[in-house]
Amino acid sequence: MLVVMQSDATPEQIARVLDAIRRVDLTPHPLPGATRTAIGITGNTGVVDTQALEVLAGVKECIRVTKPYKLASREMHRDDTIIRLPQGEIGAKTFTVIAGPCSVENEPMVMKTAEFLMSQGVTFLRAGAFKPRTSPYAFQGMGIEGLKILKRVREKTGIGIVTELMDTEYTEAVEDATDVIQIGTRNMQNFSLLKRVGKCRKPVLLKRGMSATLEEWLMAAEYVMAGGNYQVILCERGVRTFADHSRNTLDLSVIPPAKTLSHLPIFIDPSHGTGKRAYVPAMALAGLAAGADGLMIEVHPEPDRALSDGAQSLDFPGTEKLLSQLRQLLIVLGRAM
Ligand code: PEP
Ligand code: MN
Repeated sequence: MLVVMQSDATPEQIARVLDAIRRVDLTPHPLPGATRTAIGITGNTGVVDTQALEVLAGVKECIRVTKPYKLASREMHRDDTIIRLPQGEIGAKTFTVIAGPCSVENEPMVMKTAEFLMSQGVTFLRAGAFKPRTSPYAFQGMGIEGLKILKRVREKTGIGIVTELMDTEYTEAVEDATDVIQIGTRNMQNFSLLKRVGKCRKPVLLKRGMSATLEEWLMAAEYVMAGGNYQVILCERGVRTFADHSRNTLDLSVIPPAKTLSHLPIFIDPSHGTGKRAYVPAMALAGLAAGADGLMIEVHPEPDRALSDGAQSLDFPGTEKLLSQLRQLLIVLGRAM
């Protein structure tokens, strides 16, 4: 349910509506807009009495939201969500690149990558301290030591940090070290983890489960938003199909429906999507052309020596070339990086 306030509704009138919603054990979510405030209502205690709300002063109308996801839906929030961080805005017309090595391997390589990215105008570094690996014998990430490295790299270079949270136990440590918390494909439906990051005040980059439908993905975003964290970024990273020419099948066709059904920004990860560095630039450009709000790409100073995902990581010259191609396409599309 969405309560739309009149454009001249006073803060007191809005407060009275919020109280009325809380009194019936539902949760109000104020959604200030450019011209008026709307209030989303969530909860699982039956039907909302719209008449009782519609008679309150300052209320324009009550609209039923038909989708199972509410806060994530465009029905409830017409304008695109823009996430504002010190390193830049994510969403709306801006195109954002998040790049970096799959794993934090040591401080010099992360620092070198951050300095390179900043020199290229890329203001977000993504590197994993906790790695979800298929094999228990593969490099599992540096853990807390990796988070400390990320903090030092942020302090020294000013770059924004994105890193994965795999376990509720490390929520505070990850939230402290990062600007955006990544939830990986394998945890897209880890509901306790989603509820926990719903209580965080840092944006969440929510990767699509490798076999999740768009509706399941948006329901996962809803878990985070229902907890009061409205800053969710979707990230398509490829799904499982019969195809064996690439690691996953990058589902670019999910971008237009995601944009129609939801106001959340959507990123494309062509690195995990293809698994092969030779295919990354083509799919990155295609993602931009298809309307993505940004890219997440794996970049390593020496990909052939990487401790994880080297085969899909671009080296620095390859990254520089792709960034220049993206800039040219952005001009054609009338967008900015
Ligand atoms: C990653 O970003 O390095 C990663 C493990 O991604 P995904 O969860 O998409 O596999
Ligand atoms: Mn990776």
